[in-house]
Amino acid sequence: MISTFILKYTNSLITFQHIRGMSLVIPDDGFFSSSIFLPFLLLSMFLCTFVAILGNRYQRKLNRQERYFRPLYDLNPSSIIMIDPNGFIIDINPSSEKLAGMEKRDIIGLHFTHFLPEHELEVTKQRFERVLTGEVVEYEVQIHNSKGDLIDVFVRNIPIIVENKIHGIYGIMMNITKEKRNLEKIHFMAYHTPLTNLPNKRKLSEDVAKNIANVVPFSLIYLDLNEFKKTNDRYGHLAGDAVLTEVAKRLREVDNQGVAYHIGGDEFAVTLPLVQHDAIEKIAWAIADEICLPITYQEFTLEVFASIGIARFPFDAKTIEELLQKADLAMYASKEHGRGQLIFYHDTLLKKVEERFKLEQDLKEALEKREFEVYFQPQFEIQTGKFRGAEALLRWNHPEKGVLGPDVFIHVLEDTGLVVDVGEWVITEVLGLIYSWTEAGYEFEHISVNLSPKHFEKHSLCHFIEEVNKEHTTCLHRLDIEITESALINLERSIDSVRELKKLGISISLDDFGTGYSSLSVLHQLPIDCLKIDRSFIRNFNSDSKALIQMIIQMADNLNVKVVAEGIETKEQLAFLINQGCTYGQGYYFSRPLPKTEFEEKWLKGP
Ligand code: C2E
Ligand code: CA
Ligand code: CA
Repeated sequence: MISTFILKYTNSLITFQHIRGMSLVIPDDGFFSSSIFLPFLLLSMFLCTFVAILGNRYQRKLNRQERYFRPLYDLNPSSIIMIDPNGFIIDINPSSEKLAGMEKRDIIGLHFTHFLPEHELEVTKQRFERVLTGEVVEYEVQIHNSKGDLIDVFVRNIPIIVENKIHGIYGIMMNITKEKRNLEKIHFMAYHTPLTNLPNKRKLSEDVAKNIANVVPFSLIYLDLNEFKKTNDRYGHLAGDAVLTEVAKRLREVDNQGVAYHIGGDEFAVTLPLVQHDAIEKIAWAIADEICLPITYQEFTLEVFASIGIARFPFDAKTIEELLQKADLAMYASKEHGRGQLIFYHDTLLKKVEERFKLEQDLKEALEKREFEVYFQPQFEIQTGKFRGAEALLRWNHPEKGVLGPDVFIHVLEDTGLVVDVGEWVITEVLGLIYSWTEAGYEFEHISVNLSPKHFEKHSLCHFIEEVNKEHTTCLHRLDIEITESALINLERSIDSVRELKKLGISISLDDFGTGYSSLSVLHQLPIDCLKIDRSFIRNFNSDSKALIQMIIQMADNLNVKVVAEGIETKEQLAFLINQGCTYGQGYYFSRPLPKTEFEEKWLKGP
């Protein structure tokens, strides 16, 4: 039945072609005037009448069948078009008018390529040729409507074959634009980071895998923003978002043939189709320079730096995991070198990472194995030389390496979060000693303990100290807690914590003053007892640092805050500090940090 339906349209196709190409010229070569013309004419008329009667009956049958199928064609929600073997449209159903936004009479006679955008032309012509060989071909293609909008359609092309001959092609089309757009949206979301719209880690992995599979040499640049968490804490998450968006924009706009990715958080990556060291280095520095341009957020000017690590395929790695790991490693190493650094992967980095991993493992066990110890460095009233107390400083009695100072391991404790456990251990140790030294009748004012900013991220610090001190509450006024300026980044939270500590009778010192973020307004808001001038001012001891020391002491005096100078090594430094009216001091000039018993003997029991 379908073939009959096809036949009907094939007829119209043939008719249509006939009309389009017809020119009715009847040549007279004497035949009309010949004697056989009349019988021939009669015979022909008879034959024609016979064929006409047969044809009519056949046509009636056809018409009846067409009536069955016509609604299938006219009311079909899919667009159905008929094309002649030359590619011209010869019939369409009403849905096609809707799809094209044109009327049937304007569509009939157009070539099918009329609706194809440039990028679909070649491939669709090839498909058309395949259908003409008798194949049914299905595909998705974009067409444009009369308004020029691009529409995605799913097409099924069926050859119209009658008596082994191809008379044309059916195109059945479904508008899949909505589904396509939804799919594209889902695909975009799966492969991009929503905040920055940059391709994400999954996309990076797939792109890198593709390059590796095709053995295309390239380099992978990993970027990690420095101190991004501080920006978040200090100015809020919206500021953090603004920084990430701006960095993404800059990475996207830097003209370097690379592709930028946002891996997540404050990590970005760029792939470059280059492996030559100098060329990559130049581009990487250009990226770094672009990133560190100030970012304006509301009334603030934010500074951003990135640590950059670079690994190259195939020199540094043969597999995707290895390459990602090595770029990450290089980035990690550059971070260790300070902000805004750039490092290419090299094999010694791997060794360093293994060492670092070992250090982490050892540190995790050190607390259990009781390898930590607290040393005490005495502090003095500078003007009188009177013993005041001490700063408790952490040491690690490493089973192989001997006594290690915190500079070697404190950053690992910080990174792993172990610093909180170790800090709590130090507080417990020191409070126990304060108690026993007080019981023993030794004279001292304060013992200072260094606490990491991490302690201030939790609200449990006060609670912990109260718990430890349950038995001997009277001692807390002898405890001093040193916090660095970085603990004050989330000012509201730190003000609360500091107030709570002060309520317990604990005094607070601001350590390493002059190196970080502190501003005078912070000092006004925080109930600080002491400022510790950073050791670097006393170490440098030139006219600039002297002027700064002078300024800090004056400022502290106005705020009614005492000043502790640390790192005093020489008589000259001490004399200058006495002259400036500094309150307290500590340093090798007086004593190095000492183990507990030595400190007791030398400074608590007195000479
Ligand atoms: P900090 O709080 O600035 O401690 C002072 C550092 O200067 C100590 O180094 C001390 O030994 C050293 N120092 C003191 N006087 C002199 C001097 O005259 N000359 C020189 N060159 N150095 C001097 P240390 O003990 O190695 O501590 C380094 C840092 O580790 C400390 O700096 C502190 O930030 C941190 N730290 C120490 N103990 C702890 C702790 O228990 N917990 C935490 N979270 N951090 C700690
Ligand atoms: Ca300190
Ligand atoms: Ca210090």
